[in-house]
Amino acid sequence: MSIVLNEREWAENAIASRQLGRSPMETLNRVARYYYQCEGYRRKEVKQKVADFLLQCDPGVILVKWEGTIDRLARTAGKYKLIELDGVDVTEEELRIIASLDGKQAQRLAFTLLCVAKYWNEAQPNDNGWVNTSDKDVMNMANIKTSVRRQSMLLHEMKKAGLIRFSKRVDSLNIQVKFIKPDSPVKIHIEDFRNIGNQYLMYCGEPFIKCDLCGLTIKKKNNRQKYCPDCAAEMYIRKSVESVMGNRGGQRRQADKTAAV
Ligand SMILES: [Zn+2]
Repeated sequence: MSIVLNEREWAENAIASRQLGRSPMETLNRVARYYYQCEGYRRKEVKQKVADFLLQCDPGVILVKWEGTIDRLARTAGKYKLIELDGVDVTEEELRIIASLDGKQAQRLAFTLLCVAKYWNEAQPNDNGWVNTSDKDVMNMANIKTSVRRQSMLLHEMKKAGLIRFSKRVDSLNIQVKFIKPDSPVKIHIEDFRNIGNQYLMYCGEPFIKCDLCGLTIKKKNNRQKYCPDCAAEMYIRKSVESVMGNRGGQRRQADKTAAV
């Protein structure tokens, strides 16, 4: 499962907008848990509600093909509590340990692994520091674009420093973070799991900004910059439309005046 801080809100949005999103299985999973845990439907009713939702999202869907999946989702809808977090806290001692690593790339990775491990600790209280997220997703969140070889080297260095441990499992549940220090004072609250690496660099004083529209932390290119590239493109289109509409309004007013004379 991908990281969503507030699964309840997420499920409510999916239901309201009738969207399966990028990962239909994850959406159905959260919607099923929402109906069971928040709306209090019984398992049999959850099955019907999930099937209805699926049909609303995709009227052409062949429900028979989904029967087994929906069955399983309804059966396990009570197993994992719907996550409702406002973020995770990073403490002074944790930051000190991260800063002792050599190089900003290694530090960014350590910071991200810590945040992800803390998320899973909150989501599943027996988790004990395991990072239940794929290496690929972790590297994306850490804003690290480098070869797989370099990535393994970074992880190996962290292991040598005693900060992480690898499990013998072959799936993605393979890193345990060993430097969670909850008893030290809180220094940073991370409430956005996109671009965690950039947020760390921003904390270190490097020139980054948070997008005014979506809150994404991005590298600052100039002093006037307010938006991330996606939002900047959207704002540009919005402004262009407004300006065209404004001009039309102006022309119409001019025409009315002429007609009145
Ligand atoms: Zn943005």
